[in-house]
Amino acid sequence: MGSFRNRFLRVNLSNSKFSEESLSEATVHDYIGGRGFGVKLLYDDLKPHTDPYDEKNELVFLSGPLAGTNAQSFSRLQVFFKSPLTGTYFKSAAGGFWAPELKFAGFDGVIITGKAEKPVYLWIHDGKYELRDASYLWGLDCDDTHTLIREELHDNDIRVACIGPAGENRVKYAGIFTDRRAAGRGGAGAVMGDKNLKAIACRGTSKVEAADREAFTAAVKEQITAYRNNPQFASFSKTGTQIAEFTNVLGMYPTKNFREGVLPKWQEIEGASYTKLRVRKSGCHACMVHCGNIVRMYTGRYAGTWTDGPEYETTWAFTGPMRKADIGLTIAADKLCDDLGLDTISAGSTIGFAYELFEKGIITKKDTGGITLKYGDSTPVMDLLKQIAYRQGFGDLLAEGSVEAARRIGQGTEKYAIAVKGLELPAYDPRGAKAHGLNFLTSNIGADHNTGYAGQEVFGSPFPFAVDRFAVARKGELTKWNQDLTALFETGILCSFIPSMGLLSEETFGKLLAASTGIKDFADVAYLWKVGEKIFNLERMFNVREGFTNKDDVISERLTTETMPSGPSKGQVFEADELVKDYYKVRGWSSKGIPTPAKLKELSLEFTIK
Ligand code: SF4
Repeated sequence: MGSFRNRFLRVNLSNSKFSEESLSEATVHDYIGGRGFGVKLLYDDLKPHTDPYDEKNELVFLSGPLAGTNAQSFSRLQVFFKSPLTGTYFKSAAGGFWAPELKFAGFDGVIITGKAEKPVYLWIHDGKYELRDASYLWGLDCDDTHTLIREELHDNDIRVACIGPAGENRVKYAGIFTDRRAAGRGGAGAVMGDKNLKAIACRGTSKVEAADREAFTAAVKEQITAYRNNPQFASFSKTGTQIAEFTNVLGMYPTKNFREGVLPKWQEIEGASYTKLRVRKSGCHACMVHCGNIVRMYTGRYAGTWTDGPEYETTWAFTGPMRKADIGLTIAADKLCDDLGLDTISAGSTIGFAYELFEKGIITKKDTGGITLKYGDSTPVMDLLKQIAYRQGFGDLLAEGSVEAARRIGQGTEKYAIAVKGLELPAYDPRGAKAHGLNFLTSNIGADHNTGYAGQEVFGSPFPFAVDRFAVARKGELTKWNQDLTALFETGILCSFIPSMGLLSEETFGKLLAASTGIKDFADVAYLWKVGEKIFNLERMFNVREGFTNKDDVISERLTTETMPSGPSKGQVFEADELVKDYYKVRGWSSKGIPTPAKLKELSLEFTIK
């Protein structure tokens, strides 16, 4: 099948058994790849109510059908698992070079089950594979793990996906890291740590060839031309995801645990400020956007610290929740999270939750081990991140995430945990962007911005139609469109930044897929949309099988009852009930948020009807 090899490696860590498998022709046709395969594998393999830390929970590492080719921005690794943070189906993605290397090594994906007796890492090279002792790596940070595995195997071109101490200690929002890029959200690193799997290292020398080389070359040319002609391309390429200017000007930069929408002195942490600190650009395999920035602090408390990033979300996570625009701290905290193996969004947000409890006197220095949490001072963040990763002192509680921490603290603190289905909200206040918030409510993994990014509200994109960001009308329709479009593109594991910038059309994507795999139906845009919708509904049915309903499509009452007190979104609330009801109708779901039998039949998902 051209660039898709249909070769998956299954590893049971409990008995060190390996097997190779391939998907049926029908599955490949019906789910295309990437996120389609991920949810189908998890739905079929996991029994309902499997504990995320049961040895039967799977970690599915997938490359997309276009990874390893010169099609642009398809180098992402996507990891699928049942999340210890949310209890839902989960997907988490990282850019870089690991996924193409897996293809060069001869495989499309790796499915991990079981638990090793002692720490191991998996070494995949040119069609061969073995488990190796990782005892000497246990306890090391992600950077050192990369370095030592390359040294042990005498090859600096090896690509490594690994966990840090946070994953080993089962911090519920520990991620998997590769070349300083993170599959951060939802606790993939915690599941990997629970399995005693420190890393997967890959190296390969085989070529990834398209089924129809001529058509593929033409489609890649079309993609490159579209990138170059897009007015967003140059600025995105220069500053990457730094959009603090947009969200502050719109009054939706969550500040003080979502109590305000504008960060004082936000200009100090926007794109131009990072550009001044840039050492060089960075990027992923086969992506001309090259949006990453390696930055370094030269002065102040964090002088000498460098990092690859931070992205916008990380910038927010270590500024908004503490109400302090300290660029040095964002750089230092980003590097520390990359080293320790922590998701920056959940880490910053959970720390921000603790700031509010401290201000209200619900927790004191006795609880925090002597640390004072005061708005305007973000310096405690560094110590707290270490405590979280090693589950020391107060960090042990914060390692559970804000929702579970609130449950344990009690005293009505649940309302200060700003999350959906246990996943902390990212850097957008839903009161300033209603479709964005509706996506948080209904995304199958909890409050994830990348599942249906409403660029129409943040950047004013007029596709599929222009919107008033405060309006409720047509937001169900828009959210479904954004979510299905994302699912469609994630069959190829396209970088999530590309659709939000409008850089790639479904038509060109279809041509790339069809030419690379040789499957003609993939060029049919209507077919691609149907598969996108199907994937989203199958994810929903995974969660329904776990007991999730409309009762879980809820958000902190702060956002639905307290009006934004000031700034450009002043006076707004988030009309969650109205929005979600409209959304269910548009989706063809019942009032309980469950896809109807008619909808499931229409999408050929009858097998999920019980
Ligand atoms: S846009 Fe940026 S993050 Fe996405 S693939 Fe390209 S370089 Fe990587």
